[in-house]
Amino acid sequence: MDFTLSDEQVLLRDMARDFAERELKPRAARHDREERLDPAVIEQLKDLGFLGLTVPEKYGGGGMSNLDLSIVLEELNRGCASTGVTVSVHNSLVCTPILKFGSDAQKALWLPKLASGQVLGAYCLTEPGSGSDAAALATRAERAGDGWVLSGTKIWVTTGALAGLFIVYARTNPSVSKAKGISAFLVAKETKGLRVGKKELKCGIRGSPANEIELENCRVGPEALLGQVDRGFQVALDTLDGGRIGIASQAVGIGTACLEAALVYSKQRAQFGQPISNFQAVQWKLADMATRLDAARMLVHRAAWLRDRGEPCGKQAAQAKLAASQACNMAADESLQIHGGAGYTDHFEIERLFRDARITEIYEGTSEIQRLVIARSLLA
Ligand SMILES: Cc1cc2nc3c(=O)[nH]c(=O)nc-3n(C[C@H](O)[C@H](O)[C@H](O)COP(=O)(O)OP(=O)(O)OC[C@H]3O[C@@H](n4cnc5c(N)ncnc54)[C@H](O)[C@@H]3O)c2cc1C
Repeated sequence: MDFTLSDEQVLLRDMARDFAERELKPRAARHDREERLDPAVIEQLKDLGFLGLTVPEKYGGGGMSNLDLSIVLEELNRGCASTGVTVSVHNSLVCTPILKFGSDAQKALWLPKLASGQVLGAYCLTEPGSGSDAAALATRAERAGDGWVLSGTKIWVTTGALAGLFIVYARTNPSVSKAKGISAFLVAKETKGLRVGKKELKCGIRGSPANEIELENCRVGPEALLGQVDRGFQVALDTLDGGRIGIASQAVGIGTACLEAALVYSKQRAQFGQPISNFQAVQWKLADMATRLDAARMLVHRAAWLRDRGEPCGKQAAQAKLAASQACNMAADESLQIHGGAGYTDHFEIERLFRDARITEIYEGTSEIQRLVIARSLLA
């Protein structure tokens, strides 16, 4: 068994780390405060090829693996989680399903635009009445000529305000059981009847806009259908396997930033005549944080590696997300504790990291839902 990254992966990781350190970390507080990403950052993501990492080269992408994507996402999220989730959603929730389920024409139309960053992507599954129970969605897609008319409301759509392409899940067959009558559609932002609605004021990842998307008699042609009719829920679930690896990578990245902040602060802060890092109670926290994060990273890399081999990885992706998001939140909590009162103010980045960490246990399936996926697989 070989745990080392290839030379190319080390170069990729170092490039992403250097970019995150130089460009993202110094801007992260501003992204949070202003509730938007610096447009210059999006331009840099385009230039570095981070918006088409796993898209094949023939469509203008980097032709890289899911493991490569995971390595990059960890580093970007170490610098700025709002930027990190934008890249994760775009790559895992939008580029990948088009690559896996799209027709040749859909790939030729969308992948070059997505890979170059000309168009950002968003994923529209959640609705006011369907979150964890995603198959209960109520958005309808009704046949109209050879196309479809979409009506409904999607909520908490990451990158909603910036996206040019939305993957919308809608019910095409109300007469069959919930998960069986859903289809996926590629809907361009300028499509009549699609409206980007209100932006949520969030606890963390405030630089990443999460919007309501309204679909009112939104007419799309037959070319908008992604994959087979009534088989869209499989598209959604397969997509979420990859998405969960992305969010697990994000969690390891945010958690690592929390650990790093704790290392720096504990060596600087003196109490009882010595740096607080001398106290065993603090050292144990640091050791536990590092151990949980390392273990999580290994689960994340295993899940990505399985996905690259085309093997089933639903359970492993859920385990990676569960373990990584828990490690991340534990690291955020302990790091804030090590910062004492200062950690509870905006004088130190841990205050933002603590807020950013929290979402990793919620989106792309809560920790409870990850446990459900894992237990179902164990009991099958
Ligand atoms: C910032 C942000 C960004 C998001 N981005 C997107 C996006 O881009 N696209 C998108 O489609 N969605 C997105 N979401 C939605 C996200 O995926 C959902 O919030 C998440 O899946 C949980 O759904 P819910 O919020 O409706 O919680 P609910 O499903 O209402 O769950 C509430 C609580 O009940 C628990 N629960 C529910 N069912 C069970 C069960 N069977 N067993 C045990 N416990 C259960 C949950 O774990 C949770 O603790 C985003 C959400 C947020 C907050």
